[in-house]
Amino acid sequence: MSVFVLDKRKHPLMPCTERRARLLLSRRRAVVVRAYPFTIRLKNRTGDVTQPLRIKIDPGSKATGIAVVRENGQKQHVLALMELVHRGRQISKSLDQRRAFRRRRRNQLRYRAPRFLNRTKPKGWLAPSLQHRVDITRSLVNRLRSLVPVVSISQELVRFDTQKMETPEVSGVEYQQGTLLGYEIREYLLEKWGRECAYCADTDTPLQIEHIDPKANGGSNRISNLTLACRPCNQEKDRKSLVSFFATSKRLKNHQARLDRILKQCKKPLRDASAVNSTRWALYQALKQTGLPVEVGTGGRTKFNRCRLRIPKTHALDAACVGEVEIVEGWDVPTLAIKATGRGSYKRTRLTKHGFPRGYLMRQKQVQGFQTGDMVRAVVPAGTKAGTWQGRVAVRKTGSFNIQTSSGAIQGISHRHCVLTQRADGYGYHIQPNQRKEEGDRENESR
Ligand SMILES: [Zn+2]
Repeated sequence: MSVFVLDKRKHPLMPCTERRARLLLSRRRAVVVRAYPFTIRLKNRTGDVTQPLRIKIDPGSKATGIAVVRENGQKQHVLALMELVHRGRQISKSLDQRRAFRRRRRNQLRYRAPRFLNRTKPKGWLAPSLQHRVDITRSLVNRLRSLVPVVSISQELVRFDTQKMETPEVSGVEYQQGTLLGYEIREYLLEKWGRECAYCADTDTPLQIEHIDPKANGGSNRISNLTLACRPCNQEKDRKSLVSFFATSKRLKNHQARLDRILKQCKKPLRDASAVNSTRWALYQALKQTGLPVEVGTGGRTKFNRCRLRIPKTHALDAACVGEVEIVEGWDVPTLAIKATGRGSYKRTRLTKHGFPRGYLMRQKQVQGFQTGDMVRAVVPAGTKAGTWQGRVAVRKTGSFNIQTSSGAIQGISHRHCVLTQRADGYGYHIQPNQRKEEGDRENESR
C-alpha cells in the first residue's frame, strides 16, 4: 500500500512507496502524521507536481469498498484499498433498546392518551442506520481529500443500466456471458427474480439464464422471457413449457403459488425493477457537494470489469473496478479495514436484556493515559501473552487492557507494555492481507 505524503504546509503530495517513506523517515526528512492510513509530512518541501487521482466507491450494505487510483487514460494504478465497515446494525439496535426502555419508564407511571399521525418526516429522510452510511463515507472521502490530491470520484450508483436494455426489450437480446450487456442483463435478472432460482427458490448455487418459454418451442430472446434457474431446474425443465414443467416435476408439483408468482413477475415492466437504492442516491448527492466531478457506474459494469481483469471479489477491489476502466494495475496490495465503532456510550449502566441494571462503567475515560479506541502496539516480553500485539485497545480500570487485533481479541495486556500509535477517532483499523490472482480466477469461474 502506498504511503500518503503531505508537504511542509500540510498540502497533499503524490503518495510514495513504503520503501521511500522508510528512507525519508530514517534520514529525518519527514515525520509521521497518521498511522492509519499511514501518512508522512515532508519537513522541507512545499508544493510539487501532482498527478490526477481518483477515489472509487462501491457502497454495500455492511461495508463500503474504497480505492484510490492514479489515472492514465483508461489505465488505472491502485494506490490504496480500503474497506469501511458500517455500524448500522448497532445503531438501530441501540435505538430500539432506548425506545423500549423509554416506553416502559413512561407507561408505568400514568395513563397517556394515544397520539396519532402528529409526526412527519422531512423529504429525503433516511433511517439513522442508513444516514450513518452516507455520513461516514462522506467523511472518509473528505479526510482522503486532505491526504491525497484527488480530482475526481467514481461511485457505483445502480445495479444495472436500464437505458442500455431498453432497446433489447423490444428487439431481442444477445446475452452472451462475457459481454458488458450480458452482465447488465444478469444483474437485472438477479434483481427482478430476487437473487434466487425462480423455480425452486434455491439461493446458494450458481444461477443460469433460462428461457421461460423455451427457445426450441419458438420462445423469444426478449428479456421478459428470461429468468434465472439453478442447474438442476434448468436441466429438468429442458424443452417443457412453464405450466407442464410444474405439472410434471416431482419437486414442484404442489407449488401452484410459485407458478402464479412467476407468471405475474415475468410480465412486470423493466422500469419497476430499476428503483435506485435511496441510500446510494443520497451518497451520490453528498459526493456531488464536494464539487468534484462524480462518475457513476453500474453493478453490471463492475462485475464485467472484475471478471474480465480476473480480480478477486472483495469490497475494496470491487470499488477499483467501478466505472469505465480498461486496465487495473497494482491491485495486489493489502486492504486497510476501517471499522466504525463510535466513541463509546453516554450511558454508564450496563443493562440485562430485560432492562435491569447489571453493572456500571467507570466515570473516567482515560486509564494510565490510554482511552478505549486508541490504536496501540504492545510488546509483551514474557508470559503466556508474550509477543507483539497491535490493534484497538479497550481500557480497564485495573490497567490490564484488552487489545482487538486482526486475529481476535487478546485480554489482559498491561498498560506498561502498550505504546500509543494513534488516538481514538471513532474507528478501529486493521490491515488485511492482499488477494491473489488465482483466487480471482476460481471465484469468477463459479459465477
Ligand atoms: Zn432450482
